[in-house]
Amino acid sequence: MSISKAIGEQMERASWIRRMFEIGLQLRQERGADNVFDFTLGNPDVDPPEAVIAALRRVVAENRPHSHGYMPNAGFPEVRATIAAGLAARTGLPFGAEHIIMTTGAAGAINTVLKSILDPGDEVIVLNPYFPEYRFYIENHGGRVVTMETDERFQPDIARIAAATTPRTKALILNTPNNPTGAMYGADVLWALNTIVREPMIAISDEPYRPLTYDGLTPPETLSLIDRAVLTWSWSKAMAISGERIGYLAISPRLAEAGPLSNACTFANRILGYINAPAIWQWVVAQVPDATVEVAGYQARRDLLCDALCGMGYDAPRPQGSYYVFPKTPIPDDVAFIRRLQDEGILAVPGAGFGRGGYMRLSLTIPLRDIERSLPGFERAIKGL
Ligand code: PLP
Repeated sequence: MSISKAIGEQMERASWIRRMFEIGLQLRQERGADNVFDFTLGNPDVDPPEAVIAALRRVVAENRPHSHGYMPNAGFPEVRATIAAGLAARTGLPFGAEHIIMTTGAAGAINTVLKSILDPGDEVIVLNPYFPEYRFYIENHGGRVVTMETDERFQPDIARIAAATTPRTKALILNTPNNPTGAMYGADVLWALNTIVREPMIAISDEPYRPLTYDGLTPPETLSLIDRAVLTWSWSKAMAISGERIGYLAISPRLAEAGPLSNACTFANRILGYINAPAIWQWVVAQVPDATVEVAGYQARRDLLCDALCGMGYDAPRPQGSYYVFPKTPIPDDVAFIRRLQDEGILAVPGAGFGRGGYMRLSLTIPLRDIERSLPGFERAIKGL
């Protein structure tokens, strides 16, 4: 295949989020930036916690010798030990530095695990609707995506997942709290999944939104409930530092093959080209691993938007976590409804972009004032049907 044909095919498959970005640029030119309400991007619009910036200043001021050089591919041993101690305290499991590999965000972590476990044609189950990049990550490493519908509350259908599992199923990707639905899985669900996730399968539990939960909810510990689990994590959302590309993967000490998997992931982390997670940021997060942006701000945005939309007749349940609202579109054709919203200067991502038509994703990463200003447009879009 020619390079241009290959690029053409990639563009054809490019995500809706990207397409909406292009439309957004055009709308801003036509209407002025102030009259465009962009609910598409999952990029935190708040500043990192002051404690994170203070830690960054300390690390830079310390200027340790060889701070900027290569390091062991899995990351600085002291940093990995700090992360392991935190996870051991949280889960009661005997985590050690050897179970932790520092990565370039959650994306780097997931790719590293998939590269380590997949042979061409192996299957990976993802729960629909899902973060669209999972498909590319799986196919990057020769895997085959098997999508499983979730129920009307976006919870996993345990029986269907069990029935879809074959000897070629190498992984089940879980994402709780969820992008795009905002749903969170309860301990009972994770516990039931534990009976399905059996050798050679593992659960990749992708949890970058873990601290972003509302109404005082705390997500259950996947690592405590699913024996064969690998946690993939980044501080992108928790600390609002998505551009810094810092995360880790944590292999459950309960996994019989934890040692070989750790070696394989360490190797994959290098040969995928990441080499290692950003050096300076490893030292920063080790100083303040639990610092988190103010969740109350996102919760206020959630309440304003969901309550207003429901009042207009939208079916827009409040998410339990993450910073996404996933309402039904008032007509089944989500792409057509998204176009109506565009006429009102509102940018949203159609559910089809996540594998579930008839819905739309609205990201809460826009200021409260702009959410307020967007509401008349949402109202006109539904009233005019
Ligand atoms: N997983 C999910 C569900 C996400 O929403 C994202 C980013 O939006 C990622 C993984 C990738 O995270 P990171 O940018 O920290 O690598």
